[in-house]
Amino acid sequence: MGAATIMSLFFGRGKPSFSSTDVFPLTDAIMEFDDSSAEVAHRARRQSDASRLKGKNTNAQKWLIVMGLIGLFLLAAVVFHALGMVRTSTLYVLMGCIVFFVTAFFWLFKSGTHLRFREKRLKLPIVVAALTSMLLLVYLDPVMQILLAPFSFVAIAYGMYRISRGKAFLLVFGLLAGYALVMALHYAEQQNDALLKLELLHFVSLAVAMPAFVYLIGKVQLLHRILHRASRKLKNIQEDAQRDTLLGCFNRRYIVAALEEQKQLADETGIPLCLAVIDLDHFKRINDELGHLGGDEVLRSFARVAQENVRAGDLFGRYGGEEFLLIFPATSLLPALNTCERIRAQVESHPWKGLLQSRVSVSIGVTQYIPGESVLEFFSRSDTAMYMAKEGGRNQVVVEEPVRKGDPSVTVSLMDEDSDMPVPGAPAGFPMRDASRWPSKA
Ligand code: GH3
Ligand code: MG
Ligand code: MG
Repeated sequence: MGAATIMSLFFGRGKPSFSSTDVFPLTDAIMEFDDSSAEVAHRARRQSDASRLKGKNTNAQKWLIVMGLIGLFLLAAVVFHALGMVRTSTLYVLMGCIVFFVTAFFWLFKSGTHLRFREKRLKLPIVVAALTSMLLLVYLDPVMQILLAPFSFVAIAYGMYRISRGKAFLLVFGLLAGYALVMALHYAEQQNDALLKLELLHFVSLAVAMPAFVYLIGKVQLLHRILHRASRKLKNIQEDAQRDTLLGCFNRRYIVAALEEQKQLADETGIPLCLAVIDLDHFKRINDELGHLGGDEVLRSFARVAQENVRAGDLFGRYGGEEFLLIFPATSLLPALNTCERIRAQVESHPWKGLLQSRVSVSIGVTQYIPGESVLEFFSRSDTAMYMAKEGGRNQVVVEEPVRKGDPSVTVSLMDEDSDMPVPGAPAGFPMRDASRWPSKA
């Protein structure tokens, strides 16, 4: 039993329709940045922290439970030994079983062999190992059968969520057959009628109670399965609620909440944070020429290009219509600007077909967060930069450098003070000294 249970400690481990409600000017939508989105962000953070903690706790709990079971079995065996009922050699065999099965299962899990089995947690083999070990101990020391009954129930209960009811019945049958064999061996060796009677009583009680136990466990399994399915559905619903149905990227609700969360993180830690507002150029014309379905296809391709060009950790989401937000957590202005320029260039050079050739482009406004400012101020600066890009002729990235009077630490310059040249790392094509604008086409 102990050998088997300790094992788990080591290893326990479209096509949505386009609707006019999707279309709204960005400025109207600014109202979204209110206290309610901050609340959503708070809740999201609390939830993710809680689920991380819960994961750790669950593993720790599994360890505690299994260690507790092994400890109880060992304790009982040691007490029996102290009372002079169990031989020292039996205790050694018990320890040997634990070491043998722990090593064997550890190897199976470490080598990845467990992945070849349908039931990857190997609960059935673990329970079989536990029951076999117990039968061996009963054979060596008949008094150990006092522990066999309760701990065989425990072993089967341990595997109940992974072992089907049919297999559990087979296990019971195997246990009874094994026990009958042990009885026969005992009688053949000792011809002890009193022991035979006692063992028969044990056998009958096991034979009667075990099937009833497995039957009841089946009911619990059913309930567990229903709960498991319901929680999976709930998880899918939660994931869907974060995604834009047309494009698959984060939706407005999620990206706004993420921005709130990142702002709070930046306030707490002082790490830099950048935000880009991206808008497709002359998208109305594209719709007019290709129809809304054609426009949808362009949006999909754009979202794909953008997502392929952001770094892991950047958060890209649809703010509404053909407007997108790109959050750069823990990123200063220069790398954020580089990513924006990469996206702009990739959209421009994307192999758009037919009428679209050389006609799809984006205007991007990007800025860095100034600690202490509101999300609305932060967003408005990026938005203003995006409109500057539109005014500047579109298909360009404009940077709003965060400058706060009296606080040089938040001034981020992309130009070298002495040479009047772009700082190393600034994207190619960075023009003359103009603190806030960066047309990609000089
Ligand atoms: P600008 O370069 O100034 O941004 O011009 P624009 O035409 O892109 O901007 P405008 O705001 O005038 O038009 C945006 C258009 O985007 C209007 C709307 O029909 C279209 N649109 C918004 N959401 C969707 C969508 O989900 N699918 C499609 N196909 N079109 C959309
Ligand atoms: Mg547009
Ligand atoms: Mg727009």
